[in-house]
Amino acid sequence: MLAKWFERTPSVAPGRDADIEARAKLRIGLPKVLNIWTTHQFWLGFFGALGVPNERVVFSSDTSEEQGREYGRGRGTVDCCYPVKCVSGHYGELIFGQKRKIDILFSPMIYSLDSFLGGHVMESLACPRVMAAPENIRAGFVKERDVFAENGIAYVAPLVSLAEPRLVPRQLHDGLKHVLPGLSLSETEHAVEAGYRALADFNAELRSRSRAILELCASEGRACIMVLARPYHMDAGIGHEVEADLQAHGYPILWAQYFPLDADLMQWMFGADVAAGHIKSPFDIADVWPSSYSANTNEILWGAKVAARIPWITCAIRLTSYECGMDQPTFTPVQQIVERSGTLFFSFQELDSTKPAGSVKIRVETVL
Ligand code: SF4
Repeated sequence: MLAKWFERTPSVAPGRDADIEARAKLRIGLPKVLNIWTTHQFWLGFFGALGVPNERVVFSSDTSEEQGREYGRGRGTVDCCYPVKCVSGHYGELIFGQKRKIDILFSPMIYSLDSFLGGHVMESLACPRVMAAPENIRAGFVKERDVFAENGIAYVAPLVSLAEPRLVPRQLHDGLKHVLPGLSLSETEHAVEAGYRALADFNAELRSRSRAILELCASEGRACIMVLARPYHMDAGIGHEVEADLQAHGYPILWAQYFPLDADLMQWMFGADVAAGHIKSPFDIADVWPSSYSANTNEILWGAKVAARIPWITCAIRLTSYECGMDQPTFTPVQQIVERSGTLFFSFQELDSTKPAGSVKIRVETVL
């Protein structure tokens, strides 16, 4: 299904023909890490509108031990969580592992996210480690000599506040004007709009698929499973496909990030709570998580509330990574919200490079 989206190249923003032609020859590498897992369509829409065809935007592979060993060794960061540690392998793969060299390694420092809960929570910030990861990882590639320069690659890592669309054109224009020929601010504005549109279209498509799953479960009285995790747990090397093992036993999987947001469903789940004044809207999580600053954390807490209310979600699974300071305070509230509704809850904590195969097998059998 994703292939369909990766093939789309949006209409090109108005720019000089010669500049557009020059950009169409560039290859841009994007490490498929951290919050790129829920923003990739923004970047494809954005670069596509600037004249860089989607097939010339190169994503690194899923995380793997081999990737880390072959491309990241000796360039890692110390004292960090597992998902950030893995980023050096993705950088290395884009620099050394391409048949056709990339010209630009683009690794945005995503400060905030365009969360569906935005406007109902205090902030939609990225985890500070996610935001700082590009600077952190870059250090391993310039500490003895500048590996980017040696390989003729421009390293671009602009700070991007995706929760504040009015700031984004200036941030991206400042970051890219030296590497994209003739880039103007007005073109960047047009391209940013195209990026948000592409992201919204993709999210809408996935939400409609989630809705179809829910309707199937409702009409057939079948059980499905909700995943409560961060975007990069969709990466087979970070989340270890725990949910795929469960799905293989016939349980459809829903991710909280792509849960349908239709008004009828929201009213059915949260209407009574809103009417009683417990919450201000279906997307208000102040009743369970008052310090709602972090976008990914907010979405996990909201997903727990949903899992507790939908009868066909009979089980929620929680995935967290090794050394994640952000997830620690959420363990108890998320578990309690889910379990107090009678929904099964299983958590896979401290995930690192090793797939917890034995633990997964035992829990799959328990769920069954
Ligand atoms: S949320 Fe946790 S695992 Fe993810 S980058 Fe932040 S500290 Fe690391």
